[in-house]
Amino acid sequence: MKKNRYYLFSKKYFPGGVNSPVRAFKAVNQPPVFVKKALGTTLYSQNGEKYYDFINGWGALILGHGNKRVNSSAFKQLKNGSLFGLNSIVEAELADRIISAFPSIELLRFTVSGTEAVMTAIRLAKAFRGKRKIIKFEGCYHGHLDYLLSAAGSGLATCSIPTSGGVFKEQLKDIIVLPFNDLKEVKKTFAGQKNNIAAVIIEPIAGNMGVIAPQKSFLQELKNICEKAGALLIFDEIITGFRASFGGAQAIYKTFPDLTCLGKIIGGGFPIGAVGGRKEILKLLAPEGDVYHAGTFAAHPVSMAAGSAAIDELKRINPYKRMKEMTGQIADETKKIASKRQIPLQVNRSSSMFTFYFNNNEVYDFKSAKNSDVNKYAKFFALLKREGILLPPSQFESCFLSAAYDWRDVEKILSKINDVFKKM
Ligand SMILES: *Cc1c(COP(=O)(O)O)cnc(C)c1O
Repeated sequence: MKKNRYYLFSKKYFPGGVNSPVRAFKAVNQPPVFVKKALGTTLYSQNGEKYYDFINGWGALILGHGNKRVNSSAFKQLKNGSLFGLNSIVEAELADRIISAFPSIELLRFTVSGTEAVMTAIRLAKAFRGKRKIIKFEGCYHGHLDYLLSAAGSGLATCSIPTSGGVFKEQLKDIIVLPFNDLKEVKKTFAGQKNNIAAVIIEPIAGNMGVIAPQKSFLQELKNICEKAGALLIFDEIITGFRASFGGAQAIYKTFPDLTCLGKIIGGGFPIGAVGGRKEILKLLAPEGDVYHAGTFAAHPVSMAAGSAAIDELKRINPYKRMKEMTGQIADETKKIASKRQIPLQVNRSSSMFTFYFNNNEVYDFKSAKNSDVNKYAKFFALLKREGILLPPSQFESCFLSAAYDWRDVEKILSKINDVFKKM
């Protein structure tokens, strides 16, 4: 009990003792970790434990914890004031870096969270097209908006709509949920609903049902279908922006959406979101147009300064190839270790994102992901945690590597994984 005293203390103040559900570790039947500090690859818990962190702020911290250049940029901004509620040049400085990396973005608007960026993107798409229906994909998470919570992913979805209390069927009337990687269903839906569909929103590389990459030409076909039907294509690159590559998943798959949502990495560890895209669409936003979005903390100066420094650092050290190789090594070796012990395991990976699915079969959509053995995952999680490696506390979340990892870490991690599989 004593070991849980921070949890008990927090439970007095917060539902479930947390401020975001996944932090409760319910899906792995463990008490939550309370972090005291974090540096580089490592989390230090309030109880004195030390972990290799594979969560990395849910992907936001691509440079690892406490990057010196990012911190110093944030401190420098803070010395000039934390909030103005007015313009400051740090906003355009970050926007310039983003627009240089994403050719599909001509104008953008900063928000405080990813959820808010998606909300604004959907509103823009509906206004631009004058239509109301939105297609989303099963297992993709786009924030906690009422109408996008259907089959959302993050382990909370069961395919039954709605998946949140307080969301009523009528609110989901305009949302069509289709299986990821299934072009046939997309075509069928467009054939029946063509004239009502304002937009298709997708995580181009899914990261919220574990990692699932799009099958060959899926995204490009999706783009072609949208173009033909006059629907907008929205990429939710809140995880993959500056992660899948410097230019996101769109640069890798060479498929460019009408609107892009960004978040996580672009804030350098501080709260942020952004929606960007074609000029003619973004121009609909107030005050230029009549689509409303506003925010006291929108484009927060410290987030702007930290985000610019993070992007500069990514450009300077270009860690993408190395991170991908390290991720590949972890994935391939773990798979070998598991198969030697005849434990069914799929390791999906894309750039520096990866997921260990305890599953006999290939995982390519939400249904196949859901076939995984969550009890085995919970066991794996608990054993690895004891060895000082912290996986995301759910089978349906991605692991993230950061640029703070090196090959020595990879070796240590693999040796720990090897030990753990002996006890599985
Ligand atoms: C994290 C995330 C969001 C929501 O962003 P918040 O900043 O948590 O509101 C939306 N879409 C995707 C793909 C995400 O991973």
